[in-house]
Amino acid sequence: MSVSALAYIGLGSNMGMPMQQLQAAYIALNKLPGTRFGEISNIYQSAAVGPGNQPDYLNAVASLHTELAPEKLLLALQNIEIAQGRTRDLRWGARTLDLDILLYGDLQIRTPDLVIPHAEMYRRSFVLFPLFDLNPALVFPDGKNLRSHLESIDKSSISMSCSAEAFINTCS
Ligand code: ADP
Ligand code: MG
Repeated sequence: MSVSALAYIGLGSNMGMPMQQLQAAYIALNKLPGTRFGEISNIYQSAAVGPGNQPDYLNAVASLHTELAPEKLLLALQNIEIAQGRTRDLRWGARTLDLDILLYGDLQIRTPDLVIPHAEMYRRSFVLFPLFDLNPALVFPDGKNLRSHLESIDKSSISMSCSAEAFINTCS
Protein backbone atom coordinates (compact mmCIF):
# COMPACT_ATOMS: atom_id res chain seq x y z
CA MET A 1 0.00 0.00 0.00
CA SER A 2 1.36 3.42 -0.88
CA VAL A 3 1.59 6.26 1.59
CA SER A 4 -1.46 8.45 1.93
CA ALA A 5 -1.46 12.23 2.12
CA LEU A 6 -3.86 14.47 4.01
CA ALA A 7 -5.53 16.67 1.42
CA TYR A 8 -8.03 19.48 1.96
CA ILE A 9 -10.63 20.00 -0.76
CA GLY A 10 -12.71 23.16 -1.20
CA LEU A 11 -16.33 22.61 -2.27
CA GLY A 12 -18.43 25.42 -3.72
CA SER A 13 -21.74 25.81 -5.53
CA ASN A 14 -24.08 28.66 -6.48
CA MET A 15 -26.25 26.99 -9.12
CA GLY A 16 -28.67 24.10 -9.47
CA MET A 17 -29.74 23.82 -5.82
CA PRO A 18 -26.38 24.37 -4.11
CA MET A 19 -27.15 22.31 -0.99
CA GLN A 20 -28.02 19.31 -3.16
CA GLN A 21 -24.84 19.83 -5.17
CA LEU A 22 -22.77 19.71 -1.97
CA GLN A 23 -24.62 16.61 -0.80
CA ALA A 24 -23.93 14.82 -4.10
CA ALA A 25 -20.28 15.93 -3.95
CA TYR A 26 -19.97 14.64 -0.37
CA ILE A 27 -21.28 11.23 -1.47
CA ALA A 28 -18.92 11.18 -4.49
CA LEU A 29 -15.89 12.17 -2.39
CA ASN A 30 -16.70 9.30 -0.04
CA LYS A 31 -16.37 6.93 -3.02
CA LEU A 32 -13.05 8.15 -4.44
CA PRO A 33 -10.66 5.25 -5.14
CA GLY A 34 -7.56 4.94 -2.98
CA THR A 35 -9.02 7.48 -0.59
CA ARG A 36 -10.47 7.49 2.90
CA PHE A 37 -12.83 10.36 3.64
CA GLY A 38 -11.83 12.39 6.69
CA GLU A 39 -14.21 15.12 7.79
CA ILE A 40 -16.52 17.74 6.34
CA SER A 41 -16.67 21.26 7.75
CA ASN A 42 -19.77 23.26 8.53
CA ILE A 43 -21.48 24.70 5.44
CA TYR A 44 -21.12 28.47 4.86
CA GLN A 45 -23.08 30.93 2.74
CA SER A 46 -21.42 33.97 1.20
CA ALA A 47 -21.95 36.54 -1.54
CA ALA A 48 -20.44 35.67 -4.94
CA VAL A 49 -17.27 37.52 -5.95
CA GLY A 50 -17.38 36.71 -9.70
CA PRO A 51 -18.78 38.73 -12.63
CA GLY A 52 -22.41 39.81 -12.92
CA ASN A 53 -25.23 39.41 -10.46
CA GLN A 54 -24.72 35.85 -9.21
CA PRO A 55 -26.57 33.96 -6.52
CA ASP A 56 -24.88 33.40 -3.14
CA TYR A 57 -22.45 30.52 -2.73
CA LEU A 58 -22.49 27.59 -0.39
CA ASN A 59 -18.99 26.42 0.56
CA ALA A 60 -17.37 23.77 2.69
CA VAL A 61 -14.02 22.02 3.04
CA ALA A 62 -13.46 18.26 3.23
CA SER A 63 -10.35 16.44 4.40
CA LEU A 64 -9.26 13.27 2.62
CA HIS A 65 -6.56 10.71 3.26
CA THR A 66 -5.58 9.81 -0.26
CA GLU A 67 -3.11 7.63 -2.10
CA LEU A 68 -3.94 9.41 -5.37
CA ALA A 69 -1.12 11.61 -6.67
CA PRO A 70 -2.14 15.30 -6.89
CA GLU A 71 -2.67 15.18 -10.68
CA LYS A 72 -4.82 12.03 -10.34
CA LEU A 73 -6.79 13.62 -7.53
CA LEU A 74 -7.42 16.73 -9.67
CA LEU A 75 -8.71 14.53 -12.52
CA ALA A 76 -10.98 12.62 -10.16
CA LEU A 77 -12.37 15.90 -8.77
CA GLN A 78 -12.93 17.28 -12.27
CA ASN A 79 -14.85 14.09 -13.15
CA ILE A 80 -17.13 14.69 -10.17
CA GLU A 81 -17.64 18.31 -11.30
CA ILE A 82 -18.53 17.15 -14.82
CA ALA A 83 -20.88 14.44 -13.48
CA GLN A 84 -22.71 17.23 -11.64
CA GLY A 85 -23.17 19.30 -14.79
CA ARG A 86 -20.22 21.68 -14.46
CA THR A 87 -19.43 23.65 -17.59
CA ARG A 88 -16.53 26.07 -17.97
CA ASP A 89 -17.80 28.90 -20.16
CA LEU A 90 -17.19 32.01 -18.10
CA ARG A 91 -14.23 32.32 -15.75
CA TRP A 92 -15.44 32.77 -12.18
CA GLY A 93 -19.03 32.46 -13.49
CA ALA A 94 -21.83 30.70 -11.63
CA ARG A 95 -21.24 26.97 -11.24
CA THR A 96 -23.05 23.86 -10.10
CA LEU A 97 -19.93 22.54 -8.40
CA ASP A 98 -16.35 23.66 -7.90
CA LEU A 99 -13.88 21.28 -6.27
CA ASP A 100 -10.42 22.70 -5.59
CA ILE A 101 -7.38 21.07 -4.03
CA LEU A 102 -6.48 23.54 -1.29
CA LEU A 103 -3.66 21.61 0.35
CA TYR A 104 -1.98 18.28 -0.25
CA GLY A 105 0.18 17.47 2.74
CA ASP A 106 3.08 19.90 2.81
CA LEU A 107 3.48 19.80 -0.94
CA GLN A 108 4.07 22.96 -2.96
CA ILE A 109 3.36 22.55 -6.68
CA ARG A 110 3.22 25.09 -9.47
CA THR A 111 2.43 23.69 -12.93
CA PRO A 112 0.15 25.17 -15.63
CA ASP A 113 -2.68 22.88 -14.46
CA LEU A 114 -2.12 22.69 -10.76
CA VAL A 115 -1.10 25.16 -8.10
CA ILE A 116 -0.93 23.85 -4.52
CA PRO A 117 -1.50 25.42 -2.03
CA HIS A 118 -4.45 26.88 -3.95
CA ALA A 119 -3.46 30.38 -5.06
CA GLU A 120 -6.48 32.31 -3.74
CA MET A 121 -7.27 30.52 -0.54
CA TYR A 122 -5.46 32.78 1.93
CA ARG A 123 -7.75 35.67 1.01
CA ARG A 124 -11.04 33.78 1.07
CA SER A 125 -13.15 33.65 4.20
CA PHE A 126 -15.24 30.86 2.66
CA VAL A 127 -12.10 28.70 2.57
CA LEU A 128 -10.44 29.80 5.83
CA PHE A 129 -13.59 29.50 8.01
CA PRO A 130 -14.25 25.86 7.05
CA LEU A 131 -10.55 25.00 7.28
CA PHE A 132 -10.63 26.36 10.83
CA ASP A 133 -13.52 24.00 11.63
CA LEU A 134 -11.39 21.04 10.61
CA ASN A 135 -8.02 22.10 11.99
CA PRO A 136 -7.72 25.36 14.00
CA ALA A 137 -3.98 24.74 14.52
CA LEU A 138 -3.29 24.34 10.80
CA VAL A 139 0.10 25.55 9.60
CA PHE A 140 0.57 26.09 5.86
CA PRO A 141 3.59 24.80 3.90
CA ASP A 142 5.15 28.29 4.02
CA GLY A 143 5.13 28.18 7.82
CA LYS A 144 2.32 30.75 8.26
CA ASN A 145 -0.63 29.65 10.31
CA LEU A 146 -4.33 29.69 9.65
CA ARG A 147 -5.12 31.84 12.68
CA SER A 148 -2.98 34.75 11.49
CA HIS A 149 -4.52 34.66 7.99
CA LEU A 150 -8.00 34.65 9.55
CA GLU A 151 -7.17 37.76 11.56
CA SER A 152 -6.42 39.78 8.44
CA ILE A 153 -9.33 38.89 6.12
CA ASP A 154 -12.72 40.49 5.55
CA LYS A 155 -15.31 38.50 7.49
CA SER A 156 -18.42 40.35 6.31
CA SER A 157 -21.02 38.67 4.11
CA ILE A 158 -20.33 35.14 5.32
CA SER A 159 -22.54 33.12 7.63
CA MET A 160 -22.94 29.51 8.67
CA SER A 161 -25.73 27.91 6.71
CA CYS A 162 -25.76 24.44 8.24
CA SER A 163 -23.67 22.48 10.74
CA ALA A 164 -21.53 19.60 9.53
CA GLU A 165 -23.61 17.20 11.60
CA ALA A 166 -26.93 18.36 10.15
CA PHE A 167 -25.41 18.28 6.66
CA ILE A 168 -24.20 14.68 7.03
CA ASN A 169 -27.62 13.65 8.27
CA THR A 170 -29.22 15.02 5.10
CA CYS A 171 -26.76 13.01 2.97
CA SER A 172 -27.64 9.57 4.33
P1 ADP B 1 -11.67 28.30 -10.29
O1 ADP B 1 -11.68 27.15 -9.33
O2 ADP B 1 -10.38 29.09 -10.23
O3 ADP B 1 -12.86 29.17 -10.18
P2 ADP B 1 -11.93 26.29 -12.35
O4 ADP B 1 -12.55 25.39 -11.32
O5 ADP B 1 -12.63 26.45 -13.65
O6 ADP B 1 -11.71 27.74 -11.77
O7 ADP B 1 -10.45 25.77 -12.56
C1 ADP B 1 -9.64 26.26 -13.56
C2 ADP B 1 -8.35 25.48 -13.60
O8 ADP B 1 -7.65 25.64 -12.38
C3 ADP B 1 -8.49 23.97 -13.72
O9 ADP B 1 -8.56 23.56 -15.04
C4 ADP B 1 -7.24 23.43 -13.03
O10 ADP B 1 -6.31 22.89 -13.94
C5 ADP B 1 -6.64 24.68 -12.40
N1 ADP B 1 -6.13 24.50 -11.04
C6 ADP B 1 -4.90 24.95 -10.64
N2 ADP B 1 -4.68 24.65 -9.37
C7 ADP B 1 -5.79 24.00 -8.92
C8 ADP B 1 -6.13 23.43 -7.66
N3 ADP B 1 -5.30 23.51 -6.62
N4 ADP B 1 -7.33 22.81 -7.55
C9 ADP B 1 -8.18 22.76 -8.60
N5 ADP B 1 -7.90 23.28 -9.83
C10 ADP B 1 -6.71 23.89 -9.99
MG1 MG C 1 -11.93 25.11 -9.37
